[in-house]
Amino acid sequence: SSSPTTPISKGRVLIVGATGFMGKFVTEASISTAHPTYLLIRPGPLISSKAATIKTFQEKGAIVIYGVVNNKEFVEMILKKYEIDTVISAIGAESLLDQLTLVEAMKSIKTIKRFLPSEFGHDVDRADPVEPGLAMYKQKRLVRRVIEESGVPYTYICCNSIASWPYYDNCHPSQLPPPLDQLHIYGHGNVKAYFVDGYDIGKFTMKVVDDERTINKSVHFRPSTNCYSMNELASLWENKIARKIPRAIVSEDDLLGIAAENCIPESVVASITHDIFINGCQVNFKIDGIHDVEISTLYPGESFRSLEDCFESFVAMAADKIHKGENGVTGGTKALVEPVPITASC
Ligand code: NDP
Repeated sequence: SSSPTTPISKGRVLIVGATGFMGKFVTEASISTAHPTYLLIRPGPLISSKAATIKTFQEKGAIVIYGVVNNKEFVEMILKKYEIDTVISAIGAESLLDQLTLVEAMKSIKTIKRFLPSEFGHDVDRADPVEPGLAMYKQKRLVRRVIEESGVPYTYICCNSIASWPYYDNCHPSQLPPPLDQLHIYGHGNVKAYFVDGYDIGKFTMKVVDDERTINKSVHFRPSTNCYSMNELASLWENKIARKIPRAIVSEDDLLGIAAENCIPESVVASITHDIFINGCQVNFKIDGIHDVEISTLYPGESFRSLEDCFESFVAMAADKIHKGENGVTGGTKALVEPVPITASC
C-alpha cells in the first residue's frame, strides 16, 4: 500500500485505435491523467498525420506496441508482459468484430480489471436505427454479449453525439465548422440530442476507468447544458457568426432514402442521424436500469465544455470564409478533412 509520500500509481492502460478520431481524445486523456499508457498500433504504412500523432503521444510518454488485435496469443503475451490493468478499444466501425479475439485473450489471462469496448455513441441495446446503421449496432451488441459472458469487468461509454454540426454524411463532424451556405434541419428540427466535446469524452472516459461505481455499467453522457435541437443549434451558429443562414428541411424520407442507398459509411451516418433527430434515440428512454448510470450523477461538481464555447472555436476555424463573406464552407469540406481510405459498397 502507498504511504502519503508515494504517488498513488494509476492502472496501466492499453488503447486500441489510438490514432483514430475517438481514440485520440481517449489517449490524450489517459496520458494526461498519468496512467501508464500503451498503444497497440497496427504495423504497416501510416499516413503522415497518423505517424505524427503517434510521435506526439510517444513524446508525452506513451509506449507504442506494434501488432494486431485479432491474434489471441500475441494479445495475451502483451497483456501479461506489460501488466495491463485496463483495455480501451476505440477501434473503427469496420473492425468491431476483431474485438472478439481481444475479449478471448482477456478472458484467458483473467487479470484485466476493466474493458471498455469501442462504443462511444448510443446505447446500442436501446437505439434502433434502420440499416445499415443497424448492422453496425448488431456487431456492437454481439461484442457486448461476448464480454458479459466472458466475466471480464466492463463499462460501456454512451457519450451520445460529438459537439459539432451533425452533418448527415460525415462520420467525424467535429473536424468541420458548421455550414455557412445552408443549414440542414432534420424533420421538424425540435428533437433534442446531447453534444459532448471530444476533450470531455476523453476526460470523463478516464474518470470512469478508475471508478468502481461504473463496473459492469453503461455510462450515459447527458449533460443538461449540452442538450440542443437542430433548430437551437442553427440559432446558436447564426448568433455566433452574426448572420442569418437559409434553412432547408431534410425530411425523414430523405434520410431513409440516403440510408437505403447503402453507401458505407455515408448511409450508416444517415441512418444514425435519422435515429437521433427523427426517432429521438438519445432522449426517448429513462436511465433507470440497474446497469445504467448518468455521468453527471457520478461527478456532480464537474462541468462540461459548453456548446457556446465549442461553436466559438468553429468561428475561428471558419474565420477566413466568414470574413470574406463566402458561403462555401460545405462546398470546401472535402479539402478540410484528410482523405481516409473508404471502401464504398455502392
Ligand atoms: P477511426 O476510423 O477514426 O479510427 C479507427 C482506429 O482503429 C484507428 O486507430 C485504426 O488504426 C484502428 N483500427 C482499425 N482496425 C483495426 C484493427 N483491426 N486492429 C487494430 N487497430 C485497428 O474510428 P472512429 O474514431 O470513427 O470510431 C471509433 C468508435 O467511435 C466507433 O465505435 C464509432 O462508432 C464511435 N464514433 C462515435 C462518434 C460520435 O459522435 N459519438 C463519432 C465517430 C465514431 P489504423 O490507424 O491502423 O487505421
